[in-house]
Amino acid sequence: MRAVTFQGAGQVRVDDVGEPELTTADEAIVRVEASGVCGSDLHIYHGRVAIEQGFTLGHEYVGTVTAVGEGVSRVAEGDRVLGTYCTACGECFFCERRDFHKCDNGRVFGHGATLGSLQGAQAELLLVPNADLTLREVPDGISDEVALFAGDVMGTGYHAVIETGVGPGSSVAVLGLGPVGLCAVQVALAEGATKVIAVDTVDARLELARSLGAEPVHLTEEDPRAAVKAATEKRGVDVTVDAVGHPDALDLACRLTRKAGTVSVTGVYAERLELHMGIVWIKALTLKTGHANVIKHVDPVLERLASGALDPSSLVTHHMKLDDAAEAYEVYDRREALKIVLRP
Ligand SMILES: [Zn+2]
Ligand SMILES: [Zn+2]
Repeated sequence: MRAVTFQGAGQVRVDDVGEPELTTADEAIVRVEASGVCGSDLHIYHGRVAIEQGFTLGHEYVGTVTAVGEGVSRVAEGDRVLGTYCTACGECFFCERRDFHKCDNGRVFGHGATLGSLQGAQAELLLVPNADLTLREVPDGISDEVALFAGDVMGTGYHAVIETGVGPGSSVAVLGLGPVGLCAVQVALAEGATKVIAVDTVDARLELARSLGAEPVHLTEEDPRAAVKAATEKRGVDVTVDAVGHPDALDLACRLTRKAGTVSVTGVYAERLELHMGIVWIKALTLKTGHANVIKHVDPVLERLASGALDPSSLVTHHMKLDDAAEAYEVYDRREALKIVLRP
């Protein structure tokens, strides 16, 4: 079968690789009909996240189940399914607390040996461990490209907002309008937030945020702090989502958030950084951090996609063939696309 494999920094190619086979009773095999190219694929592409040469990339997928192990009960052969970007065991200390994103035995598709040696979804077939926890049937009426947001990007935007208690009347600032930031904007509005201030430097992304119902603010040509003050009787927003992952964004997030508010850090941090703890402490801010718990959230996210309360279809900017994956990565690397959907 064909699969998109990592060949070295800046190099992917479509290879013929062996077809997956069921090895344990909890697994399923999915014929992938659509897969996404994601910002985390780009980290691998750039060589910042090391994986083995020849490893198959991709962790966002929708397809049809072609085989299940005898222990799988939630999905069956022939079902149209989507899956989460990671797996969890369902049995460890963390899974028992539904902190599936911190599972001791969790694995991530398409991220090489360090994250569990799980071959990726940018392929014709995908082996899915613990299918009862990882896969869901796609509700009728949802397109492939909308459904594949549930297992990663929208799940992450949902987590970033919902875990902070955003509800009717809330005010929210979202820093960084990549796909996750734009999904966070949608979730905040869908949950009833009345002020959503969306900050970025790219005009097209600001315009998209405006079309979703947010107030767009250009990071450098305008003044986000003044905009937040004007929108909140000078208090600051209840919640700021940092969907950037840069010390400057985190600093701004702490300044935009009101006293006793919450900063939701969904942008990725791996290094030490300087944080003005005086601001965090004096304002009594809560910091929420880490990967999104997409397995916990996948059902409510799917419900909202099915009802149309959330609709990420405007974020899909490119449809390409799996065979054109090398070009897709180049396009994504040039930041010309928000979300690319690949089809075999
Ligand atoms: Zn992703
Ligand atoms: Zn676990």
